[in-house]
Amino acid sequence: MATHNIITGNPSERELSLSGKLYFPEIFKGMLYSIKHVFKPTVTIQYPEERIELGPEFRGRPVLVQENNQERCVACGLCARACPPLAISMQAAETEDEKERYPSVFEIDMLRCIYCGFCEDVCPEEAIVMSPEYDLNFLERKEAIMGKDRLLVEKSVLQPRLDFLARKRNKQFGKVYKFEAVNNTHSVRDRK
Ligand code: SF4
Ligand code: SF4
Repeated sequence: MATHNIITGNPSERELSLSGKLYFPEIFKGMLYSIKHVFKPTVTIQYPEERIELGPEFRGRPVLVQENNQERCVACGLCARACPPLAISMQAAETEDEKERYPSVFEIDMLRCIYCGFCEDVCPEEAIVMSPEYDLNFLERKEAIMGKDRLLVEKSVLQPRLDFLARKRNKQFGKVYKFEAVNNTHSVRDRK
């Protein structure tokens, strides 16, 4: 027979058993559960005084890779094209270097960025990568628009992420295309 709550008359509300009506057994069970966790290792940290070490798989704010005192970026515009919220803007210029083009202006509006990583995925030069930086705060909206002065980060700092991407991509390509790094000559930096 279907039971219903005798107070509210709602048939979808179940009747409480005697121990449920007494409350104490359930309160005791809850306290026991909390006490058990007191003796387990702490997982919370006192942020921002304490910070956690993030692995290379973490996607923090996107940054530009700086190598030999210049950006790797060749201003192809693919990242800006792929960016869903249109957070990236750039201006291409010519250079005498082998790469021929570079971004004279490169900006990311971090109020628009959704940390999707599409820019990193499409970049043929591995010139834009997701950094481990996650705590951004701004007093004014214009502070959130980051130019090259704040986007360029030394390659050595980003090396764990670059290594992670190389491992991940080689594995993906290897399944379908038998990817060999030596055949990856589309990029200026890979030509020897
Ligand atoms: S992470 Fe996504 S949203 Fe942010 S700049 Fe890159 S493509 Fe745009
Ligand atoms: S996709 Fe890469 S090389 Fe092309 S503009 Fe973006 S960062 Fe530069």
